[in-house]
Amino acid sequence: MLNRKLKETVDRELLPRVQTPGQYIGGELNAVVKDHRTLRGKLCLAFPDLYTIGMSCHGLQVLYAVMNRGADWACERAFTPMPDMQSLLAAEQLPLFSLETFTPLGNFDVLGFTLQHELTYTNVLAMLDLAGIPLRAEQRGMQHPLVIAGGPCALNPEPMAPFVDLFVLGDGEYSLPEVCDAWLAERQALGGGQRGAVRAETLALAAPWPEPATPAQRQQRASALARLAARLPFAYVPRFYQPQYAADGRPLPLLPLREDVPRQIYCARVDDLEAAPIPTSPVVPYVECVQDRISIEIMRGCPHRCRFCQSSAAKRPVRFRKVDTIVRAAEEAYRNTGYNEISLLSLSSSDYPYFDDLIRRLQDVFRPLHVAVSLPSLRINEQLRYVGEMLTTERHSGLTLAPEAALDDMRRLLGKRIRNEDLVEGCRRAMEHGYHRVKLYFMCGLPGERPEDLDGIIDLAEHIAELGRQVRGRPATVVANVSNFVPKPHTPYQWYPMQRREYFLEAHRRLRRRKRLRSVELRCHDVETSLLEGVLSRGDRRVGEAIELAYRRGARLDAWREHFKADLWWQSLRDVGVDVEQILHRPYTPSDWLPWDHIVLHQDRCYLEREWEKAAAMESGRQAVGPQCNSP
Ligand code: SF4
Repeated sequence: MLNRKLKETVDRELLPRVQTPGQYIGGELNAVVKDHRTLRGKLCLAFPDLYTIGMSCHGLQVLYAVMNRGADWACERAFTPMPDMQSLLAAEQLPLFSLETFTPLGNFDVLGFTLQHELTYTNVLAMLDLAGIPLRAEQRGMQHPLVIAGGPCALNPEPMAPFVDLFVLGDGEYSLPEVCDAWLAERQALGGGQRGAVRAETLALAAPWPEPATPAQRQQRASALARLAARLPFAYVPRFYQPQYAADGRPLPLLPLREDVPRQIYCARVDDLEAAPIPTSPVVPYVECVQDRISIEIMRGCPHRCRFCQSSAAKRPVRFRKVDTIVRAAEEAYRNTGYNEISLLSLSSSDYPYFDDLIRRLQDVFRPLHVAVSLPSLRINEQLRYVGEMLTTERHSGLTLAPEAALDDMRRLLGKRIRNEDLVEGCRRAMEHGYHRVKLYFMCGLPGERPEDLDGIIDLAEHIAELGRQVRGRPATVVANVSNFVPKPHTPYQWYPMQRREYFLEAHRRLRRRKRLRSVELRCHDVETSLLEGVLSRGDRRVGEAIELAYRRGARLDAWREHFKADLWWQSLRDVGVDVEQILHRPYTPSDWLPWDHIVLHQDRCYLEREWEKAAAMESGRQAVGPQCNSP
């Protein structure tokens, strides 16, 4: 059900004036376009980043497939427009629209944001603004879409709490349809369902914005949300929880404002991954995206529990798909898309229990078709030695590995039980099978880090580069990516402080000074970006004020170096009185209340405390990093 008027206006007036217009035209292969007149509800999955990033998000494709399976709901997509398109939409007073039917975002029943990265938060506000939806949740009435959010960053929902009606926590395959149906029932019960009958094609182009809410409409919405919060254990509705703070500013437990809302919110979980839908007809983008390939999730969760790792904590327990299911899905997705690469997704692919069988079966099917099979998250273990042999069609994409730290004893401290011996031997074997590029991911600023841990990063990268000379007569290309460690919520390291700006800058200088080989490329993450990520991932609800202020001052697309304005952010945080020092650098102890403690994952807090204690005990006795790196 296409909004022709809006599409024609966009095509004629806007697209000739913007970069990469292909990202705004929709109509891609496998996009699902439904007739809105035949539906019960309309959901727009709003990805708060550019099309090229959003279209590479596997979770988006999964939820798109899940919600479009039935005849009741239409699920469409919208992405953050680039700055030129944002300006034109605002100047021409045109609403942000979905790509399937050019329906203004304000005309959907539900608007679902996926929060993959903290630095996309201002994009959420930009998309709401461009849709004419009030930024603040309490300003909305039943005529506005339900604004929901999920994804990894929702595990600390507080910074975005002022803007989101309801967070959907955990796996989304079954919880998202439940929330959507429950909201529709509420709207229909209140007579608001009639709004769903507003036909997109009859909307006047000048008036696609939802009306501002009256106090009565706001109250109606609050009542409907309360019923959802009381009923759905994975739904967090922040307006019903009052933040409290100690005299020194530390957060205290949230105060529930209603009797019927739960004190703790439990993450939804798909128990049987085998039965969960696989998107075998993913939308194929017109424009080049970060990931242009078929993605099949083979396993959810990770059997390891590295102390810094939030993904493993969030995705417990480990669940697998059968080899037959994966091969069948890969064949179907290949037929439906024509991609020439299949990526097997999981947190640690080589821990998939039928790994060898799976790779052989896939190679049997896809090698004759010249379709590559790639494993983006290989674990460094003995199996790595055979991967080069098995993945003979993947050579062009190189080997990507995440040792995280360079020395074995540092990894023991992190709980990451891998050995340099396996890493080096695995790389050597891969080079013997034609790989000539290795990408390594490290972190700096880890608790207990010493100067030799930093030096080891360069030494290890250069050692692997030199392996190329032994195997092939010239050094291999090695990219050493070094990120700045952020102690993330729900991990045993959550009580640790983050290192300071000066520490990271000095650590980066040290790494650069040590590098000798031209075949090693060192990429250190931007320190300001990491510090802001720390504030946004560890902050409480007060940080929301700064997000809004930074947005109003022009912060957008903060994950993009060319758009990120660090000074604007630090000023905004100061102006609203956020204590960055406390959020980032003051250590917590397990007796402190953390801003995300009302969100319950599938592991108990005692486990985190025990791991935190173990790490502290192991760390004592290790020599701290010298004063040259540790100045305040
Ligand atoms: S192996 Fe990787 S995914 Fe698993 S816990 Fe460690 S860092 Fe996380």
